[in-house]
Amino acid sequence: MVQQLIDNHGRPIHYLRLAVTDRCNLRCFYCMPAEGIDYVPKGDLMSYEEMHRLVRLGMEMGINKVRITGGEPFVRKDMIEFLEELGAMSGLSLNLTTNGTLTHHYIDRLEKLGIASVNLSLDTLDRQRFHEITRRDELPQVMETLEALLERNIRVKINAVVMKDKNIDDLVPLALLSEKHPLEMRFIEEMPFNGEGAHYPVLEWNHLRILDHLSNHLPNLEKVPDGPNATAKKFQVQGFKGTIGIIAAFSRTFCGTCDRIRVTPVGQLKTCLYDDGVFNVKNIMRAGATDEQVKTSIADAVQHRAKNGFEAEQNRRFHQPVQESMSTIGG
Ligand code: SAM
Ligand code: SF4
Repeated sequence: MVQQLIDNHGRPIHYLRLAVTDRCNLRCFYCMPAEGIDYVPKGDLMSYEEMHRLVRLGMEMGINKVRITGGEPFVRKDMIEFLEELGAMSGLSLNLTTNGTLTHHYIDRLEKLGIASVNLSLDTLDRQRFHEITRRDELPQVMETLEALLERNIRVKINAVVMKDKNIDDLVPLALLSEKHPLEMRFIEEMPFNGEGAHYPVLEWNHLRILDHLSNHLPNLEKVPDGPNATAKKFQVQGFKGTIGIIAAFSRTFCGTCDRIRVTPVGQLKTCLYDDGVFNVKNIMRAGATDEQVKTSIADAVQHRAKNGFEAEQNRRFHQPVQESMSTIGG
């Protein structure tokens, strides 16, 4: 029987974001320093069996949506087989976030396993700027992935982080992808999760400025209804096939309806992106916890959830302020 997880603020939890590795083949400016980060030893990563068990227990607690993220999921060996195993769990909406550099090899299998949506990170359509931002020259591979996903009618959302002095000229060309394609183009405020600390004293390109910029260049941009528990404020240009979203990830305007928890590659459960982890689910599994004990620990953890991302950040024990790489969290 499903016992729905509900937090101490009355918010039901339906959505688990599972980061399957901290490793990545890109070095995005907003996520990692150029020299990369110190990866955790492989034995500290959750095993596929542990992650499968976590998803199964999550479903017994009302989780019906899982997003696989990282690091880059496809740099982990046998990732597609793991996705196929999760895809076989009935009643689960399985979603993926990827940088798209390796993903084009797996489109057939993603389609077959019933992937519900793929979020593709793409911050520019210009090859030189892509190279500067990600520190790797891999735009053609990402575009191959995008084209293949669209061809198969797999639901696609594109995530672009908005960076002062880096990709502002790219916002309109990216938004125009929604003209011909039924995709959601989402612009995300840059957060200081880059492994180095905040890039700016004040975030100049916040959600309001992003909207202003887009509205000035796309006069027929209109507000359209947001999905339930959505982090993106959704817009559409009249006549376009797709939509445009703006995510106030740093301004944190959407916490009131947050329905998600996160588990990091080493098994740390986070009840908010901005907290520093509340307990380690892998460690209790390895210490022999029964299914009931794992579920009770998760249920207890969401009973101490911060009301919003500001409170969570204030309550952090280890990192003040946030600066860990997003590849150790999953976004
Ligand atoms: N490697 C995959 C990718 O890039 O899509 C999955 C992991 S990545 C950490 C997940 C998401 O986090 C990506 O959409 C990325 O753009 C976003 N992200 C990473 N660092 C960020 C930051 N500092 N601020 C805002 N979004 C960030
Ligand atoms: Fe890698 Fe994704 Fe981070 Fe870029 S955003 S460095 S692709 S984990």
